[in-house]
Amino acid sequence: MRTKFIFITGGVLSSLGKGLAASSIGALMESRGLTLSMLKFDPYINVDPGTMNPFQHGEVFVTDDGAETDLDLGHYERYTHAKLSQKNNCTTGRIYHTVITKERQGDYLGATVQVIPHITDEIKRTILELADSVDLVITEVGGTVGDIESLPFLEAIRQFKGDVGKENVCYIHLTLVPYIKAAGEVKTKPTQHSVKELREIGIQPDILLCRTDRFLSPEIKAKIALFCNVEPDSVFTAKDVESIYEVPLCFHQEGLDEKIIEILNMWTKAPDLGAWEGICRKVKSPKDEVTIAVVGKYVNLRDSYKSLNEALIHGGLANDCQVNLDYVDSEEIERSGTGDGISHADGILIPGGFGQRGIEGKIEAIRHAREHGVPFFGICLGMQLAVTEYARNVAGLERANSAEFDPDTPHPVIYLMQEWVNYQTKTVERRDEGSAKGGTMRLGAYPCHLVRESRAYEAYKEKVISERHRHRYEFNNRYREPLTQKGMRISGASPDNELVEIIEIPDHPWFLGCQFHPEFQSRPWNPHPLFREFIRASLAAKRK
Ligand code: GLN
Repeated sequence: MRTKFIFITGGVLSSLGKGLAASSIGALMESRGLTLSMLKFDPYINVDPGTMNPFQHGEVFVTDDGAETDLDLGHYERYTHAKLSQKNNCTTGRIYHTVITKERQGDYLGATVQVIPHITDEIKRTILELADSVDLVITEVGGTVGDIESLPFLEAIRQFKGDVGKENVCYIHLTLVPYIKAAGEVKTKPTQHSVKELREIGIQPDILLCRTDRFLSPEIKAKIALFCNVEPDSVFTAKDVESIYEVPLCFHQEGLDEKIIEILNMWTKAPDLGAWEGICRKVKSPKDEVTIAVVGKYVNLRDSYKSLNEALIHGGLANDCQVNLDYVDSEEIERSGTGDGISHADGILIPGGFGQRGIEGKIEAIRHAREHGVPFFGICLGMQLAVTEYARNVAGLERANSAEFDPDTPHPVIYLMQEWVNYQTKTVERRDEGSAKGGTMRLGAYPCHLVRESRAYEAYKEKVISERHRHRYEFNNRYREPLTQKGMRISGASPDNELVEIIEIPDHPWFLGCQFHPEFQSRPWNPHPLFREFIRASLAAKRK
């Protein structure tokens, strides 16, 4: 077999940055000219994270093919060029769903269906499915070693080595080496125990990545190596860094990529890390800064807006400026009734969202941006509310609303389109209020045609673009006429002109709303044009 496999597990506790570690390893391997695919296993029963509360689970990341995936896939896409789809994120629920479906179809010919081998075989099949055309498959196992939930995944990756040969597999374990102030030293015991647990289930890690706040001394590395049965040069410091984009460079300085290719017995060209060095230089020495108010509901959890935050930072990179994010709770705006919380911002952004809470506060923030010439960027729900605000306060359509929030509104400027063409499946979908909560979302990449005279075209400089969606409600075409007559510009629509995708206000410094989620496609080395232009406009507004 040509393809090699890296497995990344995590120990001691969650939030050590396993997703970022996996992504950074991917970036390093690509910098050596290797092609790769990335896979995330999530040990929960939900079939996908689409229905999970972003408070608990963080953002739902959407791929081109419309898969609703774990936010780690966002990191994978931002750090590597791996093409990700439904196949690259798999939960316990999906594995069981597949196995139970096969069982019901009689595929197991009367056998007793068990965790070993049926569940583990399905897990291994999922990994192998990605191996066809790439040099390397990097698989991250979610959860922490020791959890009951992740056991079948760990058992499957243990078996995997036997299946494909030991020279083709590298196990990397990310653990914590805390510094204990009272003792004045770093402690290795949690790592020892975590590795012990891993070895009990039959996995001997090849490499230990030790998350810590300082570089580990050769003595500490030697101690960890001795207790954990790895070579001293296989223990690496994964030191805390200021910017997540430093991680690949830090790993490289420690010699991690060199060790991995040695273990996998591979030959590659020397790594070219120029792009990452450039990104880090820009992150570290910005020439200016802007403050962007992000007005939303899940304001106290940064993970809910992961890709958005990154895309804003990328927009800053494109303008040599640091972007300070100010999360404003829209309910706070409702309570105070004024734009107090946002008046200091150089730009205002309303991200995607679901549900009634805080809607009027967001509309108030949009009015503030429109009336005061503050650069405004509305994404998905943010665009829908910008349309609502314009309908109410400029076009005089009283009580205009999205049917999502007021089913009885006399002016449903945003509504459930009853028939629409699903671009992913190329079928006509029908829906009504009753089907609203089902799997009727518009998901994944759709083409969009841009109007030449527009901010959108100025940004993209292309006539046809492709962007990712995740929403149910749409712009109501009945209101095209009344709104455009009052000065709103529709600058992007589906090829058949049925779906309004971008709206703008031409006589405003920069006011744009899009029905899609541009943040999913922004990359540090290739900042998204709309974020680039939004930050540029915010910077200009600040300098005025
Ligand atoms: N709630 C809105 C809809 O379903 C917007 C969704 C979103 O912002 N992602 O259409």
